[in-house]
Amino acid sequence: MSLRLYNTLTRSLEPFEPLAPPKVGLYVCGPTVYDDPHIGHARSAYIFDVLRRYLKHRGYDVTFVRNVTDVDDKIIEKARQELGTQDAGHRTQDLKAKCEEVAERYLKSYHDVLGRLGIAAPDREPKATGHVLPDSKNVEATKKIDASMTGCISQLITKNMAYPAGGDVYFSVRRFAEYGKLSNRSPDDLKAGARIEPGEHKEDPLDFALWKAAKPDEPSWNSPWGPGRPGWHIECSVMSTAYLGDAFDIHGGGVDLVFPHHENEIAQARALGKPFAKYWIHNGLLTVNGEKMSKSLGNFITVDAVLKEWNEPDVLKMFFLGTHYRNPIDYSVENLRASFERLKNQVHFLRIASLLEVGIEPPSKLPQEILRLEHEFTEAMDTDLNTPGALAVLDKLVKAGQRLIQDAATAYEKGDEVQRNHRTGGIVSVSHTLRRLGEVLGLFGSVGAFKLSEEDRRLIDQREAARKRKEFQLSDQIRQKLSAKGYVVEDTPDGPIVYPKS
Ligand SMILES: [Zn+2]
Repeated sequence: MSLRLYNTLTRSLEPFEPLAPPKVGLYVCGPTVYDDPHIGHARSAYIFDVLRRYLKHRGYDVTFVRNVTDVDDKIIEKARQELGTQDAGHRTQDLKAKCEEVAERYLKSYHDVLGRLGIAAPDREPKATGHVLPDSKNVEATKKIDASMTGCISQLITKNMAYPAGGDVYFSVRRFAEYGKLSNRSPDDLKAGARIEPGEHKEDPLDFALWKAAKPDEPSWNSPWGPGRPGWHIECSVMSTAYLGDAFDIHGGGVDLVFPHHENEIAQARALGKPFAKYWIHNGLLTVNGEKMSKSLGNFITVDAVLKEWNEPDVLKMFFLGTHYRNPIDYSVENLRASFERLKNQVHFLRIASLLEVGIEPPSKLPQEILRLEHEFTEAMDTDLNTPGALAVLDKLVKAGQRLIQDAATAYEKGDEVQRNHRTGGIVSVSHTLRRLGEVLGLFGSVGAFKLSEEDRRLIDQREAARKRKEFQLSDQIRQKLSAKGYVVEDTPDGPIVYPKS
Protein backbone atom coordinates (compact mmCIF):
# COMPACT_ATOMS: atom_id res chain seq x y z
CA MET A 1 0.00 0.00 0.00
CA SER A 2 1.15 3.56 -0.49
CA LEU A 3 0.61 6.71 1.50
CA ARG A 4 -2.80 8.31 1.24
CA LEU A 5 -3.55 11.78 2.55
CA TYR A 6 -6.79 13.67 2.99
CA ASN A 7 -6.79 16.64 0.63
CA THR A 8 -9.01 19.51 1.77
CA LEU A 9 -9.12 20.78 -1.82
CA THR A 10 -10.86 17.65 -3.14
CA ARG A 11 -12.43 16.62 0.19
CA SER A 12 -11.17 13.09 -0.28
CA LEU A 13 -8.46 10.65 0.71
CA GLU A 14 -5.99 10.63 -2.18
CA PRO A 15 -2.93 8.53 -3.00
CA PHE A 16 0.09 10.72 -2.38
CA GLU A 17 1.81 11.26 -5.72
CA PRO A 18 4.45 13.99 -5.54
CA LEU A 19 5.09 16.18 -8.60
CA ALA A 20 8.76 15.15 -8.94
CA PRO A 21 9.49 12.15 -6.72
CA PRO A 22 11.49 11.48 -4.66
CA LYS A 23 11.46 15.22 -3.98
CA VAL A 24 8.64 16.62 -1.85
CA GLY A 25 8.04 20.32 -1.19
CA LEU A 26 6.16 21.03 2.04
CA TYR A 27 5.04 24.50 3.12
CA VAL A 28 3.35 25.19 6.46
CA CYS A 29 2.05 28.53 7.77
CA GLY A 30 4.23 29.48 10.70
CA PRO A 31 3.70 31.69 13.73
CA THR A 32 2.81 35.36 13.98
CA VAL A 33 5.37 36.28 16.60
CA TYR A 34 3.65 38.50 19.16
CA ASP A 35 3.24 36.17 22.18
CA ASP A 36 4.63 32.99 23.76
CA PRO A 37 3.60 29.85 21.86
CA HIS A 38 0.61 27.97 23.29
CA ILE A 39 -0.15 24.26 23.06
CA GLY A 40 -2.26 24.79 19.92
CA HIS A 41 0.89 26.05 18.15
CA ALA A 42 2.77 23.01 19.43
CA ARG A 43 0.12 20.66 18.03
CA SER A 44 0.35 22.11 14.54
CA ALA A 45 4.16 22.23 14.58
CA TYR A 46 4.36 18.65 15.85
CA ILE A 47 1.84 17.21 13.37
CA PHE A 48 3.79 18.59 10.43
CA ASP A 49 7.03 17.37 12.02
CA VAL A 50 5.49 13.87 12.09
CA LEU A 51 4.39 14.23 8.45
CA ARG A 52 7.90 15.31 7.50
CA ARG A 53 9.45 12.43 9.46
CA TYR A 54 7.10 9.89 7.94
CA LEU A 55 7.73 11.14 4.39
CA LYS A 56 11.47 10.76 5.04
CA HIS A 57 10.86 7.30 6.50
CA ARG A 58 9.03 6.48 3.25
CA GLY A 59 12.14 7.49 1.30
CA TYR A 60 11.15 10.97 0.13
CA ASP A 61 13.58 13.85 -0.05
CA VAL A 62 11.61 16.54 1.78
CA THR A 63 12.19 20.29 1.66
CA PHE A 64 10.22 21.83 4.50
CA VAL A 65 9.53 25.58 4.49
CA ARG A 66 7.77 27.37 7.34
CA ASN A 67 7.36 31.15 7.33
CA VAL A 68 7.52 33.67 10.14
CA THR A 69 5.00 36.50 10.13
CA ASP A 70 7.06 39.26 11.68
CA VAL A 71 5.02 42.26 10.54
CA ASP A 72 1.32 42.27 11.44
CA ASP A 73 -1.41 44.25 13.23
CA LYS A 74 -1.02 42.10 16.36
CA ILE A 75 2.72 42.75 16.57
CA ILE A 76 2.16 46.49 16.13
CA GLU A 77 -0.57 46.38 18.79
CA LYS A 78 1.72 44.55 21.22
CA ALA A 79 4.55 47.03 20.56
CA ARG A 80 2.17 49.96 21.16
CA GLN A 81 1.07 48.43 24.48
CA GLU A 82 4.65 47.97 25.62
CA LEU A 83 5.57 51.51 24.59
CA GLY A 84 2.38 52.85 26.15
CA THR A 85 3.56 51.83 29.59
CA GLN A 86 6.48 54.22 29.19
CA ASP A 87 6.06 57.97 29.56
CA ALA A 88 5.96 59.50 26.08
CA GLY A 89 8.70 62.00 26.99
CA HIS A 90 11.05 59.25 28.04
CA ARG A 91 10.53 56.83 25.18
CA THR A 92 13.85 55.54 24.05
CA GLN A 93 12.47 53.64 21.07
CA ASP A 94 10.18 54.36 18.19
CA LEU A 95 7.36 51.98 17.28
CA LYS A 96 9.25 50.42 14.41
CA ALA A 97 12.20 49.39 16.57
CA LYS A 98 9.81 48.12 19.23
CA CYS A 99 8.00 45.95 16.65
CA GLU A 100 11.31 44.41 15.63
CA GLU A 101 12.18 43.75 19.25
CA VAL A 102 8.78 42.12 19.95
CA ALA A 103 9.01 39.90 16.85
CA GLU A 104 12.55 38.85 17.66
CA ARG A 105 11.71 38.04 21.29
CA TYR A 106 8.74 35.82 20.44
CA LEU A 107 10.44 34.10 17.51
CA LYS A 108 13.19 33.15 19.95
CA SER A 109 10.53 31.87 22.36
CA TYR A 110 8.95 29.81 19.53
CA HIS A 111 12.30 28.28 18.56
CA ASP A 112 13.11 27.58 22.19
CA VAL A 113 9.97 25.52 22.94
CA LEU A 114 10.04 23.66 19.63
CA GLY A 115 13.66 22.77 20.35
CA ARG A 116 12.71 21.51 23.80
CA LEU A 117 9.97 19.39 22.21
CA GLY A 118 12.58 17.87 19.90
CA ILE A 119 10.85 19.27 16.79
CA ALA A 120 13.44 19.80 14.06
CA ALA A 121 13.90 23.24 12.49
CA PRO A 122 12.55 23.68 8.94
CA ASP A 123 14.95 23.63 5.99
CA ARG A 124 14.02 27.24 5.22
CA GLU A 125 12.35 29.70 7.55
CA PRO A 126 11.76 32.94 5.62
CA LYS A 127 10.55 36.05 7.41
CA ALA A 128 7.83 38.21 5.86
CA THR A 129 9.96 41.35 6.31
CA GLY A 130 12.66 39.74 4.15
CA HIS A 131 10.29 39.45 1.18
CA VAL A 132 8.47 42.78 0.98
CA LEU A 133 10.80 44.39 -1.58
CA PRO A 134 12.78 42.69 -4.36
CA ASP A 135 16.00 42.77 -2.32
CA SER A 136 15.92 39.38 -0.57
CA LYS A 137 19.41 38.03 -0.12
CA ASN A 138 18.02 34.50 0.02
CA VAL A 139 16.85 34.10 -3.56
CA GLU A 140 18.58 34.20 -6.94
CA ALA A 141 18.59 37.52 -8.85
CA THR A 142 16.21 36.21 -11.53
CA LYS A 143 13.62 35.29 -8.90
CA LYS A 144 13.82 38.52 -6.91
CA ILE A 145 10.74 40.23 -8.37
CA ASP A 146 8.58 37.09 -8.04
CA ALA A 147 9.91 36.50 -4.53
CA SER A 148 8.83 39.97 -3.41
CA MET A 149 5.37 40.96 -2.28
CA THR A 150 5.49 44.39 -3.98
CA GLY A 151 6.60 42.68 -7.21
CA CYS A 152 3.70 40.23 -7.07
CA ILE A 153 1.16 42.90 -6.15
CA SER A 154 2.27 45.01 -9.15
CA GLN A 155 1.79 41.98 -11.42
CA LEU A 156 -1.71 41.38 -10.01
CA ILE A 157 -2.61 45.01 -10.75
CA THR A 158 -1.24 44.69 -14.31
CA LYS A 159 -3.31 41.52 -14.79
CA ASN A 160 -6.36 43.49 -13.64
CA MET A 161 -6.88 41.15 -10.64
CA ALA A 162 -6.15 43.87 -8.08
CA TYR A 163 -6.60 47.61 -7.74
CA PRO A 164 -5.03 50.39 -5.66
CA ALA A 165 -7.38 52.54 -3.58
CA GLY A 166 -6.57 55.21 -1.01
CA GLY A 167 -2.99 53.98 -0.43
CA ASP A 168 -4.16 50.37 -0.06
CA VAL A 169 -4.23 47.65 -2.73
CA TYR A 170 -7.09 45.12 -2.86
CA PHE A 171 -7.51 41.78 -4.57
CA SER A 172 -10.71 41.66 -6.58
CA VAL A 173 -12.38 38.41 -5.54
CA ARG A 174 -15.11 38.55 -8.19
CA ARG A 175 -12.50 38.54 -10.96
CA PHE A 176 -11.13 35.17 -9.81
CA ALA A 177 -13.55 32.51 -11.02
CA GLU A 178 -12.30 29.66 -8.79
CA TYR A 179 -12.70 31.60 -5.53
CA GLY A 180 -14.18 29.46 -2.71
CA LYS A 181 -13.04 26.07 -4.05
CA LEU A 182 -10.90 25.15 -1.02
CA SER A 183 -13.42 26.15 1.63
CA ASN A 184 -16.34 24.97 -0.53
CA ARG A 185 -18.21 28.26 -0.44
CA SER A 186 -19.45 30.45 -3.23
CA PRO A 187 -18.75 34.20 -3.33
CA ASP A 188 -22.51 34.74 -3.15
CA ASP A 189 -22.74 32.84 0.17
CA LEU A 190 -19.72 34.71 1.48
CA LYS A 191 -21.16 38.07 0.53
CA ALA A 192 -23.89 37.79 3.16
CA GLY A 193 -21.37 37.99 6.01
CA ALA A 194 -18.96 40.47 4.45
CA ARG A 195 -18.85 44.20 5.04
CA ILE A 196 -16.55 47.12 4.46
CA GLU A 197 -14.93 48.33 7.68
CA PRO A 198 -14.43 52.05 8.34
CA GLY A 199 -11.16 53.21 6.78
CA GLU A 200 -11.16 50.51 4.08
CA HIS A 201 -11.41 51.51 0.41
CA LYS A 202 -12.76 48.28 -1.08
CA GLU A 203 -14.97 48.23 -4.15
CA ASP A 204 -16.61 45.03 -2.93
CA PRO A 205 -16.93 43.71 0.66
CA LEU A 206 -15.42 40.38 -0.49
CA ASP A 207 -12.14 41.96 -1.61
CA PHE A 208 -9.13 41.63 0.65
CA ALA A 209 -6.06 43.78 1.22
CA LEU A 210 -2.76 42.95 -0.48
CA TRP A 211 -1.16 46.17 0.73
CA LYS A 212 -2.12 48.45 3.63
CA ALA A 213 -1.21 52.13 3.84
CA ALA A 214 0.80 52.70 7.04
CA LYS A 215 0.17 55.26 9.74
CA PRO A 216 3.16 57.60 10.12
CA ASP A 217 4.74 55.83 13.12
CA GLU A 218 4.12 52.26 11.90
CA PRO A 219 6.70 50.04 10.22
CA SER A 220 6.47 50.67 6.48
CA TRP A 221 8.14 50.16 3.12
CA ASN A 222 8.07 52.51 0.13
CA SER A 223 5.93 51.25 -2.72
CA PRO A 224 4.32 52.54 -5.93
CA TRP A 225 1.14 53.01 -3.81
CA GLY A 226 2.83 54.97 -1.04
CA PRO A 227 4.39 53.84 2.25
CA GLY A 228 2.72 50.77 3.69
CA ARG A 229 3.04 47.13 4.59
CA PRO A 230 1.82 43.88 3.06
CA GLY A 231 -1.39 42.06 4.00
CA TRP A 232 -0.92 38.70 5.68
CA HIS A 233 -2.15 36.45 2.86
CA ILE A 234 0.26 37.62 0.17
CA GLU A 235 3.35 36.64 2.17
CA CYS A 236 2.58 32.92 2.02
CA SER A 237 1.78 32.88 -1.73
CA VAL A 238 5.06 34.65 -2.37
CA MET A 239 7.38 32.83 0.02
CA SER A 240 6.11 29.29 -0.61
CA THR A 241 6.68 29.58 -4.37
CA ALA A 242 9.97 31.47 -3.91
CA TYR A 243 11.48 28.45 -2.14
CA LEU A 244 9.49 25.49 -3.51
CA GLY A 245 8.64 26.59 -7.06
CA ASP A 246 5.39 27.73 -8.71
CA ALA A 247 3.94 24.23 -8.24
CA PHE A 248 4.72 22.27 -5.09
CA ASP A 249 3.36 19.25 -3.26
CA ILE A 250 1.90 19.99 0.16
CA HIS A 251 0.57 23.09 1.88
CA GLY A 252 -0.40 22.72 5.53
CA GLY A 253 -1.81 24.62 8.47
CA GLY A 254 -4.56 24.67 11.06
CA VAL A 255 -8.15 24.17 9.89
CA ASP A 256 -8.90 27.74 11.05
CA LEU A 257 -6.67 28.94 8.18
CA VAL A 258 -8.75 27.33 5.38
CA PHE A 259 -10.85 30.47 5.14
CA PRO A 260 -9.92 33.15 4.41
CA HIS A 261 -6.14 32.73 4.60
CA HIS A 262 -5.59 29.69 2.39
CA GLU A 263 -8.45 30.55 0.07
CA ASN A 264 -6.79 33.92 -0.49
CA GLU A 265 -3.34 32.35 -0.92
CA ILE A 266 -4.75 30.20 -3.74
CA ALA A 267 -6.51 33.17 -5.36
CA GLN A 268 -3.31 35.25 -5.38
CA ALA A 269 -1.02 32.50 -6.66
CA ARG A 270 -3.40 31.19 -9.34
CA ALA A 271 -4.16 34.72 -10.52
CA LEU A 272 -0.39 35.11 -11.01
CA GLY A 273 -0.50 32.03 -13.24
CA LYS A 274 1.07 29.62 -10.74
CA PRO A 275 -0.36 26.09 -10.28
CA PHE A 276 0.46 26.32 -6.51
CA ALA A 277 -0.03 23.48 -3.97
CA LYS A 278 -1.34 20.03 -4.97
CA TYR A 279 -2.35 18.72 -1.52
CA TRP A 280 -3.87 20.81 1.26
CA ILE A 281 -3.50 19.29 4.73
CA HIS A 282 -5.22 20.80 7.77
CA ASN A 283 -4.98 19.91 11.43
CA GLY A 284 -7.95 20.13 13.80
CA LEU A 285 -8.15 22.64 16.61
CA LEU A 286 -7.36 22.31 20.28
CA THR A 287 -9.70 23.13 23.15
CA VAL A 288 -8.98 23.29 26.88
CA ASN A 289 -11.49 21.45 29.04
CA GLY A 290 -13.97 21.71 26.18
CA GLU A 291 -13.53 25.45 25.68
CA LYS A 292 -11.71 27.49 23.09
CA MET A 293 -8.37 28.66 24.48
CA SER A 294 -8.15 32.39 25.02
CA LYS A 295 -6.45 34.83 27.33
CA SER A 296 -9.77 36.37 28.34
CA LEU A 297 -11.09 32.98 29.54
CA GLY A 298 -7.93 32.50 31.56
CA ASN A 299 -7.27 29.08 30.02
CA PHE A 300 -4.34 30.07 27.84
CA ILE A 301 -1.73 27.32 28.24
CA THR A 302 1.80 27.94 27.05
CA VAL A 303 4.04 25.12 25.88
CA ASP A 304 6.61 26.29 28.41
CA ALA A 305 4.16 25.74 31.29
CA VAL A 306 3.38 22.17 30.16
CA LEU A 307 7.04 21.31 29.68
CA LYS A 308 7.86 22.62 33.14
CA GLU A 309 4.99 20.73 34.74
CA TRP A 310 5.74 17.34 33.13
CA ASN A 311 9.47 17.64 32.69
CA GLU A 312 9.24 15.26 29.73
CA PRO A 313 8.47 16.52 26.21
CA ASP A 314 7.12 13.15 25.02
CA VAL A 315 4.06 13.44 27.31
CA LEU A 316 2.63 16.28 25.23
CA LYS A 317 3.55 14.49 21.99
CA MET A 318 1.94 11.25 23.19
CA PHE A 319 -1.20 13.28 23.95
CA PHE A 320 -1.26 14.77 20.44
CA LEU A 321 -0.64 11.40 18.76
CA GLY A 322 -3.56 9.83 20.62
CA THR A 323 -6.05 11.78 18.46
CA HIS A 324 -6.08 11.79 14.67
CA TYR A 325 -4.58 15.04 13.41
CA ARG A 326 -7.72 16.17 11.58
CA ASN A 327 -9.93 15.80 14.65
CA PRO A 328 -10.33 18.36 17.41
CA ILE A 329 -8.43 17.54 20.58
CA ASP A 330 -9.27 18.48 24.14
CA TYR A 331 -6.53 19.33 26.61
CA SER A 332 -7.17 18.41 30.22
CA VAL A 333 -5.03 17.26 33.13
CA GLU A 334 -6.70 13.80 32.99
CA ASN A 335 -5.88 13.43 29.29
CA LEU A 336 -2.26 14.38 29.90
CA ARG A 337 -2.03 11.98 32.82
CA ALA A 338 -3.31 9.13 30.64
CA SER A 339 -0.67 9.98 28.04
CA PHE A 340 1.96 10.05 30.78
CA GLU A 341 0.97 6.55 31.97
CA ARG A 342 1.11 5.21 28.45
CA LEU A 343 4.52 6.72 27.86
CA LYS A 344 5.79 5.47 31.22
CA ASN A 345 4.93 1.91 30.24
CA GLN A 346 6.84 2.18 26.97
CA VAL A 347 9.86 3.89 28.51
CA HIS A 348 9.96 1.38 31.36
CA PHE A 349 10.23 -1.45 28.87
CA LEU A 350 12.95 0.35 26.89
CA ARG A 351 14.96 0.83 30.07
CA ILE A 352 14.78 -2.81 31.08
CA ALA A 353 15.68 -3.80 27.53
CA SER A 354 18.65 -1.41 27.42
CA LEU A 355 20.09 -3.22 30.46
CA LEU A 356 19.53 -6.65 28.98
CA GLU A 357 20.90 -5.84 25.59
CA VAL A 358 24.45 -5.05 26.77
CA GLY A 359 26.76 -7.22 24.70
CA ILE A 360 23.89 -8.91 22.85
CA GLU A 361 23.48 -8.65 19.11
CA PRO A 362 19.86 -8.65 17.95
CA PRO A 363 18.95 -11.70 15.84
CA SER A 364 19.62 -11.05 12.16
CA LYS A 365 16.05 -11.99 11.23
CA LEU A 366 13.14 -10.26 12.94
CA PRO A 367 10.55 -12.62 14.44
CA GLN A 368 7.29 -12.93 12.46
CA GLU A 369 5.25 -11.22 15.16
CA ILE A 370 7.42 -8.10 15.02
CA LEU A 371 7.35 -8.00 11.23
CA ARG A 372 3.59 -8.20 11.34
CA LEU A 373 3.39 -5.34 13.86
CA GLU A 374 5.76 -3.22 11.81
CA HIS A 375 3.53 -3.76 8.80
CA GLU A 376 0.52 -2.74 10.88
CA PHE A 377 2.34 0.46 11.87
CA THR A 378 3.06 1.35 8.24
CA GLU A 379 -0.51 0.61 7.25
CA ALA A 380 -1.84 2.92 9.96
CA MET A 381 0.52 5.74 9.02
CA ASP A 382 -0.18 5.25 5.30
CA THR A 383 -3.86 5.82 6.04
CA ASP A 384 -3.73 9.61 6.40
CA LEU A 385 -1.25 9.42 9.30
CA ASN A 386 -3.45 7.41 11.62
CA THR A 387 -1.28 8.02 14.69
CA PRO A 388 -3.77 6.51 17.20
CA GLY A 389 -3.40 3.27 15.20
CA ALA A 390 0.39 3.64 15.14
CA LEU A 391 0.47 4.16 18.93
CA ALA A 392 -1.61 1.03 19.44
CA VAL A 393 1.14 -0.88 17.58
CA LEU A 394 3.78 0.54 19.94
CA ASP A 395 1.66 -0.69 22.88
CA LYS A 396 1.47 -4.15 21.29
CA LEU A 397 5.24 -4.21 20.90
CA VAL A 398 5.66 -3.35 24.59
CA LYS A 399 3.26 -6.15 25.54
CA ALA A 400 5.23 -8.63 23.41
CA GLY A 401 8.45 -7.40 24.99
CA GLN A 402 7.07 -7.73 28.53
CA ARG A 403 6.00 -11.29 27.79
CA LEU A 404 9.50 -12.13 26.61
CA ILE A 405 10.98 -10.61 29.79
CA GLN A 406 8.77 -12.88 31.87
CA ASP A 407 9.69 -15.91 29.77
CA ALA A 408 13.39 -15.05 30.08
CA ALA A 409 13.04 -14.79 33.88
CA THR A 410 11.32 -18.19 34.00
CA ALA A 411 14.06 -19.74 31.85
CA TYR A 412 16.68 -18.15 34.13
CA GLU A 413 15.08 -19.65 37.23
CA LYS A 414 15.06 -23.05 35.55
CA GLY A 415 18.71 -22.62 34.61
CA ASP A 416 17.81 -22.96 30.92
CA GLU A 417 20.52 -20.77 29.36
CA VAL A 418 19.56 -21.54 25.75
CA GLN A 419 15.93 -20.47 26.19
CA ARG A 420 16.97 -17.47 28.21
CA ASN A 421 19.36 -16.22 25.49
CA HIS A 422 16.74 -16.86 22.85
CA ARG A 423 14.19 -14.74 24.73
CA THR A 424 16.73 -12.01 25.41
CA GLY A 425 17.46 -11.84 21.68
CA GLY A 426 13.71 -11.37 21.15
CA ILE A 427 13.60 -8.56 23.72
CA VAL A 428 16.42 -6.78 21.92
CA SER A 429 14.56 -7.10 18.60
CA VAL A 430 11.41 -5.66 20.15
CA SER A 431 13.23 -2.76 21.78
CA HIS A 432 15.13 -1.87 18.59
CA THR A 433 11.87 -1.92 16.61
CA LEU A 434 10.09 0.15 19.25
CA ARG A 435 12.86 2.73 19.18
CA ARG A 436 12.93 2.84 15.38
CA LEU A 437 9.15 3.26 15.00
CA GLY A 438 9.09 5.68 17.94
CA GLU A 439 11.67 7.79 16.14
CA VAL A 440 9.38 8.04 13.10
CA LEU A 441 6.92 9.74 15.46
CA GLY A 442 9.64 11.81 17.12
CA LEU A 443 9.38 9.85 20.38
CA PHE A 444 11.93 8.52 22.87
CA GLY A 445 14.58 11.09 21.91
CA SER A 446 15.16 11.79 25.60
CA VAL A 447 15.27 8.11 26.58
CA GLY A 448 18.97 8.01 25.85
CA ALA A 449 20.36 4.64 24.87
CA PHE A 450 22.71 4.89 27.81
CA LYS A 451 25.32 2.23 28.40
CA LEU A 452 26.43 1.28 31.87
CA SER A 453 30.12 0.91 32.53
CA GLU A 454 31.40 -2.54 33.50
CA GLU A 455 32.04 -1.25 37.01
CA ASP A 456 28.47 0.05 37.43
CA ARG A 457 27.06 -3.17 36.07
CA ARG A 458 29.06 -5.13 38.64
CA LEU A 459 27.65 -2.90 41.38
CA ILE A 460 24.11 -3.64 40.24
CA ASP A 461 24.80 -7.40 40.19
CA GLN A 462 26.36 -7.22 43.67
CA ARG A 463 23.36 -5.35 45.00
CA GLU A 464 20.95 -7.84 43.47
CA ALA A 465 22.92 -10.74 44.94
CA ALA A 466 22.88 -9.06 48.38
CA ARG A 467 19.16 -8.49 48.11
CA LYS A 468 18.57 -12.13 47.27
CA ARG A 469 20.63 -13.12 50.33
CA LYS A 470 18.41 -10.65 52.26
CA GLU A 471 21.46 -8.57 53.22
CA PHE A 472 19.41 -5.41 52.97
CA GLN A 473 21.93 -3.15 54.66
CA LEU A 474 24.54 -3.97 52.03
CA SER A 475 22.05 -3.69 49.19
CA ASP A 476 21.00 -0.25 50.48
CA GLN A 477 24.60 0.88 50.68
CA ILE A 478 25.17 -0.12 47.07
CA ARG A 479 21.96 1.62 46.02
CA GLN A 480 23.25 4.82 47.67
CA LYS A 481 26.53 4.43 45.82
CA LEU A 482 24.63 4.13 42.52
CA SER A 483 22.46 7.08 43.42
CA ALA A 484 25.55 9.20 44.08
CA LYS A 485 26.72 8.23 40.59
CA GLY A 486 23.49 9.63 39.18
CA TYR A 487 21.39 6.45 38.75
CA VAL A 488 17.90 5.60 39.86
CA VAL A 489 17.48 1.97 40.94
CA GLU A 490 13.98 0.59 40.80
CA ASP A 491 13.15 -2.96 41.90
CA THR A 492 10.51 -4.71 39.83
CA PRO A 493 9.19 -8.29 39.73
CA ASP A 494 11.50 -8.72 36.71
CA GLY A 495 14.55 -7.64 38.67
CA PRO A 496 16.08 -4.21 39.20
CA ILE A 497 16.05 -1.58 36.49
CA VAL A 498 18.52 1.25 36.50
CA TYR A 499 18.40 4.50 34.58
CA PRO A 500 20.02 7.90 34.78
CA LYS A 501 18.29 10.56 36.85
CA SER A 502 16.82 13.11 34.46
ZN1 LIG B 1 0.09 31.17 5.41
